Amino acid sequence: MHGRKKLTLENFMQGLARRNPRQFEFHQAVEEVAASVIPYILQHPEYMKARILERMAEPDRTIIFRVVWEDDQGGIHVNRGYRVQFNNAIGPYKGGLRFHPTVNLSILKFLGFEQTFKNSLTTLPMGAAKGGANFNPKGKSDREVMRFCQSFMTELHRYIGPNVDIPAGDLGVGTREISYMFGQYKRLENEFTGVITGKALEYGGSFVRREATGYGCAYFMQQMLHQKGDSVEGKTCIVSGAGNVAQHTAEKLIELGGKVIAMSDTSGFIHDPEGIDQEKLNFIMDLKNRKRASIAEYAEKFKSQYYPNQKPWSVPCDLAFPCATQNEIDECAAQELVKNGCIGVAEGANMPTLKEGVNVFQNARILYAPGKASNAGGVAVSGLEMTQNIMRLNWNRDELEARLKDIMRQIHQKCLYYGQEEDGRIDYVRGANIAGFKKVADAMLAYGTI
Ligand code: NDP
Repeated sequence: MHGRKKLTLENFMQGLARRNPRQFEFHQAVEEVAASVIPYILQHPEYMKARILERMAEPDRTIIFRVVWEDDQGGIHVNRGYRVQFNNAIGPYKGGLRFHPTVNLSILKFLGFEQTFKNSLTTLPMGAAKGGANFNPKGKSDREVMRFCQSFMTELHRYIGPNVDIPAGDLGVGTREISYMFGQYKRLENEFTGVITGKALEYGGSFVRREATGYGCAYFMQQMLHQKGDSVEGKTCIVSGAGNVAQHTAEKLIELGGKVIAMSDTSGFIHDPEGIDQEKLNFIMDLKNRKRASIAEYAEKFKSQYYPNQKPWSVPCDLAFPCATQNEIDECAAQELVKNGCIGVAEGANMPTLKEGVNVFQNARILYAPGKASNAGGVAVSGLEMTQNIMRLNWNRDELEARLKDIMRQIHQKCLYYGQEEDGRIDYVRGANIAGFKKVADAMLAYGTI
């Protein structure tokens, strides 16, 4: 067909790597999706003819800009800001902003690409984007963070809007940063709209948004276990990270009767065989959200073990929840988890497991949920925040939690539909990828060649 190479994973990935040199995280994210979607496309030639996968792997546009700000001593700093508007076939662009020194185009393209499928899975009308800056909020004063956020938004506001692109938080972007950015947008545009989600409750935020990613992740595990006639009750759990997603995954697991025995941060991990109950979790929340201190203080306070500079995957557990960052479970860590009896993994973070690690979980036939399914609760409640902003009303906490739970159930159902294997096992990776792909692909087909 027009001298085109046959659609195989190898040919497709070669082209992608040539067009996006050295963007390894982006290659990794695309390959994971392409491996399950290409066989499906080969059975549906209309997608192949319209080159839907090639089009999906190319962002609609990428915006890169300079962010200049002044520190408390009057020193001038220059950072690089980004917004990758990936795909708006099924709704306005939607996805978080990440402030972290490692932010680059490869990371944001991997996150934006993943977001396309995740947002599609939520059942809500949301396209996909991701953005951020190579700015490190750690160690900065509140006023420095404010000046950075205002400078960042002074440029970004030109490209976003409540019907165009609605950013949210991600690593390094919590309520404080969202508030500074929303305040600046409101000032520049002279309008109060739901242009950004993750806002505080007083000015257009939603109940359960803060908790949504973590709660959703725990609900997804509950669904996977329920499907096998099992439950979270009494299971030992490891949660990596100690930020927003980790805290609320742990909170819901505790509520569901799970026993969380390890958590971590960039400094190392803590192991508490007695279990982290709600009171101990409140200590961690205060430690991370207010004091912004190391998790080592937990070990001192509750006389448990602290392992500096290590990841928690060597601790035997029934269930594992990687909720810190990308590529935190490699092949060895995955083997160790399986060897120690782990029966289920649900990703709270985006792409925390390397391809080799995913293979280990799948070959061991344990339950494994990719982040685009199991952490979709966050963006789903962001979508509900947008709905409430447009309607100018607030649903109550119970209403939102019920909706979140139902969305996670529906995502699980979609994974079952497309991921069921002949022997009854569920391939959640294939299920999530194909279900996410199909909705966006059908919309793109309907629009014709644009
Ligand atoms: P936070 O910044 O609130 O927390 C991140 C946590 O992970 C912190 O405890 C941090 O440690 C730890 N961490 C970060 N990098 C590393 C590393 N290299 N090694 C060990 N620990 C690390 O972020 P979130 O909880 O919001 O996000 C976590 C993950 O979940 C990310 O992958 C994000 O993309 C994903 N996600 C987040 C959503 C959300 O709603 N917030 C939605 C969907 C996905 P320390 O405390 O020392 O900094």
